[in-house]
Amino acid sequence: MFDDADILSMNHAELSEALLSLGEPKFRAAQIFKWLHGARVHDFMQMTDLGKKLRESLSARFKIGDLGVVREQCSADGTRKYLFSLADGNCIETVAMRYHHGISVCVSSQVGCRMGCKFCASTQNGLVRSLAPSEILLQVYKVSELLSERVDSVVLMGIGEPLDNFEAVTRFCDLVTDPQGYNLAGRAITLSTCGIVPRIDELAAQKRQLNLAISLHAPTDEQRIKTMPINKAYNIDTLIAACRRYFAQTGRRVTFEYAVIEGQNNSEEDARALAQLIRGMGAHVNLIPVNPVRDTGFHATRESALRFQKQLEALGINATVRRTLGNDISAACGQLRREVAQEKKAQSIQEEQP
Ligand code: SAH
Repeated sequence: MFDDADILSMNHAELSEALLSLGEPKFRAAQIFKWLHGARVHDFMQMTDLGKKLRESLSARFKIGDLGVVREQCSADGTRKYLFSLADGNCIETVAMRYHHGISVCVSSQVGCRMGCKFCASTQNGLVRSLAPSEILLQVYKVSELLSERVDSVVLMGIGEPLDNFEAVTRFCDLVTDPQGYNLAGRAITLSTCGIVPRIDELAAQKRQLNLAISLHAPTDEQRIKTMPINKAYNIDTLIAACRRYFAQTGRRVTFEYAVIEGQNNSEEDARALAQLIRGMGAHVNLIPVNPVRDTGFHATRESALRFQKQLEALGINATVRRTLGNDISAACGQLRREVAQEKKAQSIQEEQP
């Protein structure tokens, strides 16, 4: 399903099969899986309980991926943002945030995005490609290695639409929660989506412990269509119905992400419409004052987000204003990648000039 040399993307069954085809007993697969995902070695030669010949044939047949650190930014609040390079030279962003309950890593699922949300920097140049499971996984492993600390939770809220890369993202969830591997708790993963409804149902059917976050950002179709093209394919009623099914099937409460955009979605009427929409499903609203992305013109203050929160709470809806971590380092998704791309462009224009 994925690149067959990409050993970090393989599950136990695929690994067993690959070992059988090399004439090795199946139990070697468990041993190798532990080396890769438990001990996280970078080289087959470090798998010291395997014979030299096997290590050589594994090296010839497979590659253990890695990420390059292109840039690292450290915010005053301890948030770290990484621009990582992939084997093919593409770059992705990963953010590590420190909370009282530990380290949370925000991972990318694609290089770019094709969802076209108007306020989002990740989508401005479209989709380049989807990430392999190993490339999502390596973001967690790499941050863990760079900080010499265990990662406690993962949010799929970086660049890309996770449900537009469904197979790789669900494989990533399986691998990162594997008891023989990093052994992250299933409920320590949050997946954020702009609302690809059939995939939400598919996810619900898998009955994972996963937290689902929905990027709602507007309470009516009329408003949502203006900033989120996905709403043309799946309107708000269809989306909320899918969220209710997700809650019913998994017992996991759904979170709604709501970027407050001054003058567009934060009136009292908007609060009433939003409350009406999501009532009775124990949902939580995460308010984010929209992060001003260059050229979009959207803005909001923390005060107006707090005002909107009070209105929602008065209507019986649980809402918090997200602590904006790393604002000083352009931590909103897609911004660093875009900045570096623009720097490179400016540089090449300068170089072209006589
Ligand atoms: N594609 C997924 C996950 C990536 S974005 C999704 O749409 O949910 C993670 C979150 O950041 C989403 O809720 C997204 O809508 C939000 N976001 C993107 N740009 C933003 C901005 N400029 N200000 C505030 N939130 C933003």
